[in-house]
Amino acid sequence: MDTIPFNRPPQVGNEVFYIRRALKGHLAGDGPHSKLCENWFEERLRCYRALLTPSCTHALELAALLIDVRPGDEVIMPSYTFVSTANAFALRGATIVFVDVRADTMNIDEGLIEAAVTEATVAIVPVHYAGVSCEMDAVMSIADRYGLFVIEDAAQGMMSRYKGRFLGSIAHLAAYSFHETKNYTSGGEGGLLIVNDEQFSQRAEIFREKGTNRSQFFRGAVDKYSWVDIGSSYLPSELQAAYLWGQLQYVEKIKTDRLRAWQFYSEQLQPLAAAGKIELPKIPAVCEHNGHMFYVKVENLDERSRLIAYLKNEGIGAAFHYVPLHSSSAGLRFGRLSGEDVHTTSESERLVRLPLWFGISFSDLRKVTDAVFKFYQ
Ligand SMILES: *Cc1c(COP(=O)(O)O)cnc(C)c1O
Repeated sequence: MDTIPFNRPPQVGNEVFYIRRALKGHLAGDGPHSKLCENWFEERLRCYRALLTPSCTHALELAALLIDVRPGDEVIMPSYTFVSTANAFALRGATIVFVDVRADTMNIDEGLIEAAVTEATVAIVPVHYAGVSCEMDAVMSIADRYGLFVIEDAAQGMMSRYKGRFLGSIAHLAAYSFHETKNYTSGGEGGLLIVNDEQFSQRAEIFREKGTNRSQFFRGAVDKYSWVDIGSSYLPSELQAAYLWGQLQYVEKIKTDRLRAWQFYSEQLQPLAAAGKIELPKIPAVCEHNGHMFYVKVENLDERSRLIAYLKNEGIGAAFHYVPLHSSSAGLRFGRLSGEDVHTTSESERLVRLPLWFGISFSDLRKVTDAVFKFYQ
C-alpha cells in the first residue's frame, strides 16, 4: 500500500447524513435526493434535462441511443480516451473514426476533424481531458456545417469552463462521471446525462425508465404508464444520489482544494521544466479547469516506467493513462484512424499522473515533488 495513494475518493463529511436520511424512505431511482441533484444541475448548467445514471458509460450509451446511431454510421473521437467513449457507439454498430490529439492539451485536434468527416459521419465526441476543454467553438462550427451531433465526454470536466460556459453545457448532449476517481462521486460509481437540445428531453426520460412513460405519469401528465419505446434501466439508487448531494453542498470547496494541489505541483516543478527535464500541462487562455489531474511529460516510455517505479519505491502512487484505442485489438475491429498518429502514441507514452485528491496535504505534495527532483538528480 502506498503511503501517498494515487487517488482517494472525495468525502466531505455530510454524505452519511444524507444517506441516513435516504434510508428512511424511497430507495429506488428518481427519489427525492435524485431530484435534488438533477435540479441542481439543471439550474447550474441551464440545460433542458440532467438525468442521473449509474455511470458515465451509461450516460454515453443513452446519448448513442438518443441520436439513433445505426450500423454503418461513423462517429469521430480522439483515440486517446477511455474505452467507454468508443464502446457506447460501437455497441450500436457504429464505426469509430479516431483523430489525433493536440500535444499541448491531449484533446482532439480540432484542426483534423473536418478531414475525418465522410458521408457516413453522424457525430463528434470531444473528450475534455484532465478537465481542460476542447476547442468547442471549432467543434460546434464543423458539426453545424455538416449537420452532425456533438456529445461532450465531460467525465472529467465538471465545474470546468470554456469561454465562461460550463463543460457539458455546450454540445447537444453531454456526460459526467461520478466514479470515485473523478472530482465528485456518488459513492464510487455514477454518472449524469445532460440534455442541452430539447428534442432529446422526452425520449431520454423514456429510455432511462425501461421504455415507459413512468416519469410523465409521476408528473401527472398521463393517467397511467405503459411501454412506449425501447429502453433499459439507467437509474442509480437513492443512496448514490444522497452521497452525491452531500458533495454538491461543497462543490466549490472541492474544486478550490484540488486547484491548490494542482498549483503547488505546477509551481514547485517549474525548475525541472525550465531545465528541460519534464514538460508541465498547458492550459489554454479560454479554459478554466477544475484541477482534475496533474501530469508531467517525461522524455520517453522507458523514463516513464523508471519514474513510476522510483515513486512506487518511495511509497507514492503515480500512474500512466490511456493506451491509445486505435491500435488496440477492439479499436482495430470497430474503428479506424483518420490521418496520422503524430501525437497520440508518442505523447501518451510520456505522460505520468501524480497523486491528486481532495484533502491531499501540503506535506504529501512536498514529498511527491521532492521525490521527482531526487529522481532527476
Ligand atoms: C471516467 C471516464 C469515463 C467513464 O466513466 P464511468 O463513470 O466510470 O463510466 C468515460 N470517459 C472518460 C473520459 C472518463 O475519464
